[in-house]
Amino acid sequence: MPVATMRRHNHSTKYSGLMPMSGTSLVWIHGGSLRAVNVGHLGAAVMIGRSSRAEIHLTDESVSRQHALLRIRPDGNWLENLSRTNPTQLNGTRVDTPVVLADGDVLRVGSIEIGYHNLATASRVSGPLCSYCNRENPPTQKDCWFCGTSLVSARSDVRARTPLLLRVAGPPQQQPSDVFPGEILAFDAEGKPSVVREEGAGTAQLAIVSTADGARLRYGGGHPQVKLNDVPVLGDTDLTSGDRLEIGGQAMVILTKG
Ligand SMILES: [Zn+2]
Repeated sequence: MPVATMRRHNHSTKYSGLMPMSGTSLVWIHGGSLRAVNVGHLGAAVMIGRSSRAEIHLTDESVSRQHALLRIRPDGNWLENLSRTNPTQLNGTRVDTPVVLADGDVLRVGSIEIGYHNLATASRVSGPLCSYCNRENPPTQKDCWFCGTSLVSARSDVRARTPLLLRVAGPPQQQPSDVFPGEILAFDAEGKPSVVREEGAGTAQLAIVSTADGARLRYGGGHPQVKLNDVPVLGDTDLTSGDRLEIGGQAMVILTKG
């Protein structure tokens, strides 16, 4: 009995040091609906396969029982192929030796495509700061987006990496919507999403905003039907990472660092 206790203790100690997994998710389509799993909760070796013991269990004939292995290491998250009959692919290239994964990669396991998202490493380089209002501008901006002051004389050496707050992802081949500080994801009357600045977006009747512990759906009604995990939404609702939303017939999953 003490041995078992000690082993469990060792495991939890080992897993607690795996910071690179924070905000790491896999997204794929199964049976016509979008699925998302936060692999940070699954341990140091994540099996992908048709075996019922696989952490990522894919019930598809094209998938081998033990098809691919995701190894969580301090130097990154590595993908290893295990299938002899139907090798795993990464961004269209066959995986012969273990490869380290990057945010935005698309894995192919049998006939199933899986999007790899690592929010911990997703960031963008900020542009020049306005000398008048001190707001951050996109890298290619000529005049300040807020006050119109010319950015020609703005210090171009002011560059910082802005961490990603929130991602709304669709099917693996589709470009996700990334929300950075000061931005929200607003939907128009047809349910089409666009990332807009939070200032001046007060009229958005339907939007996803980042919060301290996840995200929140702002829903003012009068829009295309919205479903959260297959249940119709009637008003403002808190969202957590992995939640599935359906807006105007479009399926998407919410990904946060939590
Ligand atoms: Zn300005």
